[in-house]
Amino acid sequence: AGRRSASAVNASAFSFEQIGGQDRAKQELIEALDFIVKADEIRKLGIRPLKGILLAGPPGTGKTLLAKAAAHYTNSVYLAASGSEFVEMYVGVGASRIRDLFKEARTKAKKAGKDSAVIFIDEIDVIGGKRDGGQQREYDQTLNQLLTEMDGIHTNDKPRILLIAATNRKDSLDAALLRPGRFDRHITVDLPDKKGRKHILSIHAANKPLHPDVDLDRIASESFGFSGAQLESVMNEAAIYAMREDSETIGDHHLAMAIDKVMMGEKTDREATN
Ligand code: ATP
Repeated sequence: AGRRSASAVNASAFSFEQIGGQDRAKQELIEALDFIVKADEIRKLGIRPLKGILLAGPPGTGKTLLAKAAAHYTNSVYLAASGSEFVEMYVGVGASRIRDLFKEARTKAKKAGKDSAVIFIDEIDVIGGKRDGGQQREYDQTLNQLLTEMDGIHTNDKPRILLIAATNRKDSLDAALLRPGRFDRHITVDLPDKKGRKHILSIHAANKPLHPDVDLDRIASESFGFSGAQLESVMNEAAIYAMREDSETIGDHHLAMAIDKVMMGEKTDREATN
């Protein structure tokens, strides 16, 4: 149990501008963060304070990036953990890891002289899945501890905890997590539309020598259904194809091959899990 349950990284360099597309998700997240940060004003209006924000959507769409940007936006320290880290053989270990995570967040924020800490829990469904009749006793303790910690979050705490969780299986979450006063703000982070894909492609092309004839608008059309993570892969693979051909720039055909490769990779992954 000596493994660290959370990794603190310097997220201060990461901002919302570096996330492509996801305009609505960004806007909703910023509004939710403003709610938390301006808690006093919000309370005057009689609005219930917010405890946790849930980002829901398919893999690779930028949920982790959004959480990092949230830390930057609110000038918070950033701690990340994944639901799967709390699943342990021994009863009680998961729960104590949750406790440690919140403790560590408060300590880190104090040390860094910051008023708040963002705790990001990816794959929340692993610990917060629906309870099925006493089957998952260990998970229950972990989930109960998380609920206890959430109940202990107050918007005027110093340092303040901003809890963000992500899932790609929102339907499987236990109702206890979604209740008012828990994760009661849900933000959908969907696959990007064409405009979003073009934006994401341009972000990942920024440091690459694209041939001037390359039309990102067309590449965006051709990558229908791709996630942000896949689009990042497309740009990276295209650069590798260009290198193999000793080409100084990345051209249309490199991108076409890269799109095929990423699409094929998806298929192979799916076949492997089926
Ligand atoms: P998972 O559900 O698998 O944890 P996620 O939604 O948290 O995925 P991220 O980890 O945020 O996805 O994204 C993975 C990588 O894909 C990022 O590091 C980035 O390179 C790229 N990426 C994903 N979405 C975007 C986006 N909207 N804009 C720019 N890059 C993106």
